[in-house]
Amino acid sequence: MIVEIKAKFACDDCGTEFFVPLDPAYEPPAGWSVFAVAEDSVRAGTDYEDATDDLPVGSGSVEDGRHYCARCTKISDAKYATDPTPQPQSGGK
Ligand SMILES: [Zn+2]
Repeated sequence: MIVEIKAKFACDDCGTEFFVPLDPAYEPPAGWSVFAVAEDSVRAGTDYEDATDDLPVGSGSVEDGRHYCARCTKISDAKYATDPTPQPQSGGK
């Protein structure tokens, strides 16, 4: 039996690789691809893990098809919390 399935992503901002678990017993809605299930797991954030030591506990995020690690998600969230005005995307650093 399958005990564990994980999807590995690389943050589209900083490049940090992170893992999200996919529940082997989960039955996705009809038409969902494995990739869609993996993306949904990034949003859910449950049991998120990556290789950084100073990582704040949290979850990654998905925005406009880009995938972000928990750290970049926290930075982005903090930016919007102090300046709720939508900013144009710079397309990276
Ligand atoms: Zn990142």
